[in-house]
Amino acid sequence: MVSRPHGNRLVQLYSDRRRLSRREFDDMIKITASYETAIMIENIGDGILSPVDGFMTSDEFDSVLEEMRLTNDLPWTIPIVLRVEERFVSRLVNKPYVPQRAEVHDDVLLCYPNDAPFAIVKGEELFKFNKMAYAKKVYGTTDASHPGVANVFRQPNYALAGKVVPLARVPNQFARFTLTPSETRVLFEEKGWKTIVAFQTRNAPHIGHEYVQKIALAFTDGLFINPVIGKKKKGDFKDEVIVDAYLRLIEYYYPKNSVVFSVLRYEMQYAGPREAVMHAIMRKNFGCTHIAIGRDHAGVGNFYKPYAAQEIFNKFPDLGITPLFFKEFFYCKRCEGISNEKICPHGGSNRLTFSGTTLRNLFLSKQAPPKEYMRPEVSDVILKHPSPFVE
Ligand SMILES: [Zn+2]
Repeated sequence: MVSRPHGNRLVQLYSDRRRLSRREFDDMIKITASYETAIMIENIGDGILSPVDGFMTSDEFDSVLEEMRLTNDLPWTIPIVLRVEERFVSRLVNKPYVPQRAEVHDDVLLCYPNDAPFAIVKGEELFKFNKMAYAKKVYGTTDASHPGVANVFRQPNYALAGKVVPLARVPNQFARFTLTPSETRVLFEEKGWKTIVAFQTRNAPHIGHEYVQKIALAFTDGLFINPVIGKKKKGDFKDEVIVDAYLRLIEYYYPKNSVVFSVLRYEMQYAGPREAVMHAIMRKNFGCTHIAIGRDHAGVGNFYKPYAAQEIFNKFPDLGITPLFFKEFFYCKRCEGISNEKICPHGGSNRLTFSGTTLRNLFLSKQAPPKEYMRPEVSDVILKHPSPFVE
């Protein structure tokens, strides 16, 4: 049995997609959405964030920040918020001043790109939130050198709550490799898989990644490789490089019919532990029964303890997807293979760790990493890209 959707209901809002009349278009307040907001709406519409079917009210927002649960007690760790600029606020609440919190009764038209109708938000409430408190709760820090925190500080702190009615989709250059939860659920069933382990990544695969995936696959029926693509940090692998590298790895090193590969368009928050739980919830909605959680999952810099993103799962025995925890892998010269501190007794000088910086430097100087580090077929395809990293 594939996993039941979070909250037992798979949200599917694209089924009642409709066109907008000229009059509706003219009557509604229009807000231009960012790419990231458009993607979030698409993910809501496809049920990746089930059971959430819109942008959160202040009650849900507070509950998620304080309790890491929705008001109905379902685990949920990062609020789903539509931030709106102050210039829209007085129009939305029909008042000359800007309140902390107000009811809204208007539909708002989100446009993307530019003024193309993209989605309707059935406005319910408008509220103001405290950026510092948000950053502290979600990221565990208010340090603006954290990319997620910097993002919060840059954006407005008014939020419009309301259910979403998607009208269009965001053009997708990876449409061939993008499955929705309703599609993966059918696919997993067709394959007869009862246990499916999800692998979240934002990197081209080195041997350490492959090892985690294969250990997990050894105990499950299928592997769901689901790399996040979209806005990234400078120095990260470009989306097309990640896709090419995985296709190569799967072609050469995985048994046919053991893997489903699909990309996830999603904006990384780098929120460490809280984001690890969201990663699990999203994959549960795709039908996965397990998810691999490694060292510093969804972390950045030194903001989180190496295994904090594993420990947080203790708080959610009712999550409905089982996390599989992995210590960091390395190549051990004495073991002559991939190992980690749980299974290898040899010391540090025998160990070759998989450092992202080392990999990046090798590729930037057009050199293939050693085969203990990355499969030659994978290195090859990365070296073929003129500039594999986000600049
Ligand atoms: Zn060893």
